[in-house]
Amino acid sequence: MKNYLLVGAGFSGAVIGRELAEVGHQVTIVDSRSHVAGNCHTERDPDTNVMLHVYGPHIFHTDDQEVWEYVNRFSSFKDYTNRVKTTSRGQVFSLPINLHTINQFFGKTLRPDEAKAFIEQQADTSIEDPKTFEEQALRFVGNDLYEAFFKGYTQKQWGCHPSKLPASILKRLPVRFNYNDNYFFHRYQGMPEHGYTRLVEGILDHPNITVKLNTRFERSQAQDYDHVFFSGPLDGFFDYEQGRLGYRTLDFEKFTDKGDYQGCAVMNYGEEEVPYTRITEHKHFSPWEEHEGTVCYKEYSRECGPDDIPYYPIRLVEEKEMLGNYIALANQTTGVSFVGRLGTYRYLDMDVTIREGLDAARQFLSHVERGETV
Ligand code: FAD
Ligand code: UDP
Repeated sequence: MKNYLLVGAGFSGAVIGRELAEVGHQVTIVDSRSHVAGNCHTERDPDTNVMLHVYGPHIFHTDDQEVWEYVNRFSSFKDYTNRVKTTSRGQVFSLPINLHTINQFFGKTLRPDEAKAFIEQQADTSIEDPKTFEEQALRFVGNDLYEAFFKGYTQKQWGCHPSKLPASILKRLPVRFNYNDNYFFHRYQGMPEHGYTRLVEGILDHPNITVKLNTRFERSQAQDYDHVFFSGPLDGFFDYEQGRLGYRTLDFEKFTDKGDYQGCAVMNYGEEEVPYTRITEHKHFSPWEEHEGTVCYKEYSRECGPDDIPYYPIRLVEEKEMLGNYIALANQTTGVSFVGRLGTYRYLDMDVTIREGLDAARQFLSHVERGETV
């Protein structure tokens, strides 16, 4: 039996910790926050009893059957389909861009093939291999839709012009030539019935796991353990010696109302003049529950300062060199594995985080079994 330390009680720390505990190791998990589940944390609003997604809206979706079965082991799930709306130019449209969006936006009654041909006319086909967000948008939906739905929103969300961002950010969103307005195209989609925090508590509920909240990890603590898994910020581990990797942070302006404020869970705001990116109305994430009151968050994105919570890794092209230096340092550091969204400085959905956690733990255990240094 060995003693392992996990830094961070989000999905990364919880999943890896559970795998190690299940084969008989002693696991300590520390988190500087007062709760588990990291950025996926949910809690009930004391006034309305609505389940709040405290660090922004989280919808579970995956094609990975093992991960789907894994999360269902620890929580019951309710069917949930993410249907997002966006307000732009005084109208409400459906996202991701689908046949309804196209017909409404251009005032047409096109059928799928006609819409495809029409959008191809709008598209800038001279862009053969889109590298930036802007090129990707102009190539696949054309300038009008880009300006109405993506340009302003992206500028607000990322704090820079879409020509500075990689095409991969937009590739996450489909364009559909039918009326399917499901935001995701994964096989499984749902919401944990009692919230994400209850789900993560279920993963952590093992006699070999000790969780210490309000506890910040210091590097000197590593020597007390046989190995450390670090899911905090990669640059923070090395005291920012190579500089700070860029993150966006979010501010949430909470307000309450009666009944139904906006009729859906997520309303985006496509235009730059509106200072927030979206409004989330949390009760719509639990449509099986009934509440008289309602709680909404206006979401603002800005540059992440030293005391702010890092949310989105920006990964600008200019940061590649700094990131490379940190990865080199991480590779030279024995006894520590860097995992998760912050530890690897990548945007990871929850299902990918869990998949990588399961794989990391299994790989680690097989190294240990072979007596190799990790
Ligand atoms: P985190 O959840 O960030 O956990 C890391 C933990 O480490 C934190 O609790 C932190 O307090 C702790 N920590 C850091 N440093 C230290 C330290 N030095 N000492 C002690 N503790 C420390 N994914 C989806 O699949 N669907 C969605 O709809 C979705 N929506 C999202 C919306 C937003 C606004 C954001 C930002 C992300 C969203 N995600 C979504 C992604 C999801 O949040 C991540 O996949 C998940 O949080 C990653 O888990 P993690 O454990 O790697 O990191
Ligand atoms: N995006 C946009 N307008 C929208 C929704 C998304 O411009 O109404 C862009 C934005 O740059 C965002 C990216 O598309 O970061 C990916 O969208 P997604 O919904 O996946 O954003 P996330 O879940 O990361 O907030």
